[in-house]
Amino acid sequence: MAQLGELVAAISNGKVEIIDLTNKLTENTPSMTLPDPFPSPAPFVLEEIAAYDERGPVWRANDIHISEHTGTHLDAPIHWITGRDGRDVSETPLPRLIGPAVVVDFTAEAAANPDFVATPDHFKEWQTEHGDFPQNGWVLVRTGWSVHSQNAERFVNADSEGAHTPGFTPECARWLAEETHISGVGVETMGLDAGLGHAMEPGMPMHYYLLGNDKYGITSLQNLDRLPVTGAVIVVAPLPIVGGTGSPARVLALVEHG
Ligand code: MN
Repeated sequence: MAQLGELVAAISNGKVEIIDLTNKLTENTPSMTLPDPFPSPAPFVLEEIAAYDERGPVWRANDIHISEHTGTHLDAPIHWITGRDGRDVSETPLPRLIGPAVVVDFTAEAAANPDFVATPDHFKEWQTEHGDFPQNGWVLVRTGWSVHSQNAERFVNADSEGAHTPGFTPECARWLAEETHISGVGVETMGLDAGLGHAMEPGMPMHYYLLGNDKYGITSLQNLDRLPVTGAVIVVAPLPIVGGTGSPARVLALVEHG
């Protein structure tokens, strides 16, 4: 009781700031296009069904159309074949959804090379400076990619070879999944894996290893530049879709000042 009271007081007096890490949902929010013959996830569409008119004299309402995997969203273990016997998104243990976050910054690397992929050594160097990743925490990978998050073409950055967006080597994905005690990894890009991750072995290694090890992924994060390297707490709020392989999620960070 005392601790929650202190938290509420700190939020109201500004000592704890709440930062929204969620990409706004609009018809410009990028959504994934899979190659033939695979069906692509639905983009976000807002469909007005009443607007203080004959359809609703004193109310306004919309239906929303969206994939589990559009916009800022959580990937649950059953999204990938390696996690097929794991949890759906409604079964995510709640303590996994609120936890400490650390920020690992690859902005310079991604600006120099959109195909930049992080290796275990990148993270081990970070740990040498800042300490181990927190138990049950989230590793948020900052690449600056969210500046493109309302421009699908730039966000996907594709040419005839495929999409060019930053990610992780297979060895790195395996290390994060098997050698750390984190809840999951958050990224700024549309998917957890590098744009060219399908060509790696195994294909889409972050999906393969993280989701296969009961860890979670969050994509399309933004405002990571406003977080401290360590010390923030994030709150991840996916919808409890029964059988869901993921869900759009509001992701908030609590950051303490002074
Ligand atoms: Mn997804």
